[in-house]
Amino acid sequence: MGSSPFDSWITNDDEVTSLLAQEWDRQTTTLQLIASENFASPAVMAATGSVLTNKYAEGYPGRRYYGGNQVVDEVEDLARRRLTALFGADHANVQPHSGANANVAVYQALLEPGDTILAMRLDQGGHLTHGSPASITSKWWNFVSYGVTPRSDDPDNPGELIDFDNVREQALAHRPKMIVAGATAYARRIDPASFREIADEVGALLMFDSAHVAGLIAGGSHPNPVPYSDVVAFTTHKTLRGPRGGAILCREEYAKKIDMAVFPGQQGGPLEHAIAAKAVSFKEASLPGFSVYTEQIVANSKAFAAALAGEGFRNVSGGTENHMVLVDLREFDAELTGKVAQEVLDRAGITTNRNTIPDDPRSPFITSGLRVGTAAQTTAGMKEGEFATIAALMACALRQRDDEAAIIQVRNDVAALCSSFNPYATFTK
Ligand SMILES: *Cc1c(COP(=O)(O)O)cnc(C)c1O
Repeated sequence: MGSSPFDSWITNDDEVTSLLAQEWDRQTTTLQLIASENFASPAVMAATGSVLTNKYAEGYPGRRYYGGNQVVDEVEDLARRRLTALFGADHANVQPHSGANANVAVYQALLEPGDTILAMRLDQGGHLTHGSPASITSKWWNFVSYGVTPRSDDPDNPGELIDFDNVREQALAHRPKMIVAGATAYARRIDPASFREIADEVGALLMFDSAHVAGLIAGGSHPNPVPYSDVVAFTTHKTLRGPRGGAILCREEYAKKIDMAVFPGQQGGPLEHAIAAKAVSFKEASLPGFSVYTEQIVANSKAFAAALAGEGFRNVSGGTENHMVLVDLREFDAELTGKVAQEVLDRAGITTNRNTIPDDPRSPFITSGLRVGTAAQTTAGMKEGEFATIAALMACALRQRDDEAAIIQVRNDVAALCSSFNPYATFTK
C-alpha cells in the first residue's frame, strides 16, 4: 500500500496514518466518478496543512477582532483579489466553510424570514439548500419550485431541460423575492440571461448557485453568471479543484450585507488555511492550462455519455454539456435501482452515487438513476478513450452483478487502468 507524500509528518499516530494510507490507496486504485469530487493539487493541500490553521481572525482584513493578523489579512485579501479577477465580480467573500453555509448566508443577507424563494425542484436537480424539508432553509424561507420539461423521444429535442416557461409561470404566480439558478444533478448548461430576464420581470433578486460548475465557468467552458446575477455562490472543491469550502461573489451594493451574514451572522473564526488554499486554487484556475482542463472535462463527459448510451443506458436530457452524466438505469435493466447499481459499482472499484431522475417512480433512497462525473479522473489525465472503457466496465459489472468472479475481474481491470493515471503524477512543482 502506498501513501501520499503529505502524510510523512504524522509519525506519532499510527491509527490516523494507517487510515490516511488506506484512503490514499482507495483514491488511487479505484475510479472516482462522484460528480462533486476532484483531486486538489499538492499546492492546495500544502496550504490547507499550513500554520494558518493556528490563527484566529474573526472579522475581515483590516477589521479583525484579534491582533496578529497582518499576514492573514494579506492572505485573505489575495484570495479576494484573485477571485474577483477570475470571475469579474465587484466583491468576494472567501470565508464560507462550505457551499451550504454560503447559500444560507446569502438568504440571510438579502431576505427576511418567511420571504419566498423560487428554486429548482429537488427531485429534478436542485440542492438540499434550495428548500429541502430536511434543510434549515425550508424552515426559515418559503420555497416554491420550477422543474424541467417533459422527456420526449425526439432525439433532436429530448426534453428534461430547465423549463423557462415554468420558471416564468411560477415567478409570476408567487412573486418570489429571490430566484435561485443552479443545480446539483443537471447535465446541461444553465443560461444566466434567461433567469435574469425573468427575475427582472417580477422584481426578484437573482442568486446563481454555481457550486458544481464554478470551475467550468473559470475555465471559460460555461457562461459566466456574474454579469447577470446579484449574487453568485459556489463551492471551491468541485470542478474548481480547490480546498473543501465555499465562496460568494456579489455586486458592490450587497457587499456589506453579505459579509455581515457570513460573519458574525453564520460563522465564527474563518479557516485561513483553507482561504490560503482557495487563493492557490484561484491562481491555478486563472492559468491557461485550466481552460485546457475544463475543455477536456466536457469532452470526456460527452464521450462518456455516448459510450454509456452505446451500452444501453439512457442519459437524462439526452446527453451532457458539463462534467456530469445523469443516467436513467431503467432502459439498461428495468429491475436495476440506483441503490443497487451504486453498491455493485462500489464492489467493482467504481465510485458513483445514486440519484433521482426527473419523475423518478422510486424513492430518493432507492432511485432509478446514477450520477457520474468526469472532473476528478480528468485531473488524473484520463481522456475520451478511458471514459469509453469505463462505460464498458460499468455495463459489464452491472450486467453480471450476481457473479462475484466477474465483479472481481472488473475491479482488477479498474485497478490496472488507475495504475496508469495516478492523479498526483500529473502535477508538477
Ligand atoms: C454541492 C452543492 C452545494 C453545497 O456544498 P457543500 O460544500 O456540500 O455544503 C450547494 N449547492 C449546490 C448546487 C451544490 O451542488
